[in-house]
Amino acid sequence: MASVHTYDKSSQRHVLPLRPTIKDYAWGIRGLDSRVARFALESGVIDEVDPDSPYAELWLGTHPSGPTTLRDGTTLESVVGGQLPFLFKILSAGKALSIQAHPCKDGAKRLHLENPTNYGDDNHKPELAVALTPFEAMCGFRRLEEIAILIKKHPEFAACISNEAKLAIFLCSRDEDDKKKALRMLFQSFMSCPVETSQVQLKKLLKRLQKEQSVDHVHPHEEPPWERKCARAILRLAQQFPGDSGAMAPFLLNYLLIAPGESFYMAANEPHAYVAGEIIECMACSDNVVRAGLTPKFKDVDNLVNMLTYSMGGPTINAGTPAYGDDRIMRYTPPTREFEVMIITCNPGEDITLPALSVPAIFVVLEGSGNTDNEEGQRLVMRPGRSYYMPEHCPELTLAVNDSKRGPLRIALAHENQHLDEPTLSCAEDSKQWGGEFALPTPTSNPGTPRSPNKYVGVRELNLKPGVTVPFKVPKL
Ligand SMILES: [Zn+2]
Repeated sequence: MASVHTYDKSSQRHVLPLRPTIKDYAWGIRGLDSRVARFALESGVIDEVDPDSPYAELWLGTHPSGPTTLRDGTTLESVVGGQLPFLFKILSAGKALSIQAHPCKDGAKRLHLENPTNYGDDNHKPELAVALTPFEAMCGFRRLEEIAILIKKHPEFAACISNEAKLAIFLCSRDEDDKKKALRMLFQSFMSCPVETSQVQLKKLLKRLQKEQSVDHVHPHEEPPWERKCARAILRLAQQFPGDSGAMAPFLLNYLLIAPGESFYMAANEPHAYVAGEIIECMACSDNVVRAGLTPKFKDVDNLVNMLTYSMGGPTINAGTPAYGDDRIMRYTPPTREFEVMIITCNPGEDITLPALSVPAIFVVLEGSGNTDNEEGQRLVMRPGRSYYMPEHCPELTLAVNDSKRGPLRIALAHENQHLDEPTLSCAEDSKQWGGEFALPTPTSNPGTPRSPNKYVGVRELNLKPGVTVPFKVPKL
């Protein structure tokens, strides 16, 4: 609905405080443990936080399903004079989100035409996640060799897959297209396994895994940690979604844990499921999700099976790249036109001028406090959770932190991609840089495989509790 307020064009050069929209999806972290709740409180979206309610997502942008406004109710869309190309979010995940993928542009158009109720957008939705806490997620298919090991090791999983699909996996040649065909056959077979079968097998699997987790169970000496981690993930998902065979997803998808400041990018048509932790998320302005499990919402297995790329191996994990010659400004640049994210850190006793931009931007204060100044004398209070709109070509804004402050001021800034020719992130489809969970040595038979200069996170053991905040550190490269 259009705002009744008229936007004063004379303030077009001003940085404007925003009022985001929040979403209370059931997987959100509850009460004040949720950053979304704290940020919503600070920005005046809510007056109080209900300790028993989930606070899942905070949206900053012009998407019609969650339009951001100014403090006086004027919509951001009317200020911008149209849609922003990106949607900027904070996510607080207390339990797993559904297993999902987002369609490419053509796929989104088709889905929207065929089923506008479930697919409200005709835009694609590539997305970028930057961790604010240790963050667990399933991203992209495992390598076929890993899946084969898991099929052999877990008869209950094997029982949910047709013999034909199993043969395709075990007899597969080294050819990339053959591997993709075999993986597609396996995924389709698993997803179309009759519920009666998958439920019985899931029960048997959980019983066995639970027994193997007990203290007196002697683990076979050769069992690598990634396999144990996979088993623990299945037990946890099964607890969160009783009876949902989606709990077996860690057999198929890479299970990764990234540290605060690290990021990954999910291109169109890549399966993923975020499991726990808090992130900044930026995406093209869209809300199209094709779901396949771990959700009470509409599941669309046929479309999911048809749309996936079946690339294998996880995404590149990247801890940001210094931008504008200042290592206090770290950029996270995906290979997509609509958006990129900067994390900007200002230490006590320092000031930092934000990059001059020819495109509109949104920023949100992540931690610390400070104030601002520009040639128009705009003084804004920087406190965690406050968010602002910066119009294109606005006077340069300088952040300053008093040297009596104990910690740095840190903000996250999003805008249209200004470094499209120098992306820092890629997905499995255009890179073979990350070989999954390092479960198996990366095949050396292909000397052309590029090695990534980026930092990787291998198998990390961390007891993650949802909502637990660890100091946000942007690791230096
Ligand atoms: Zn997603």
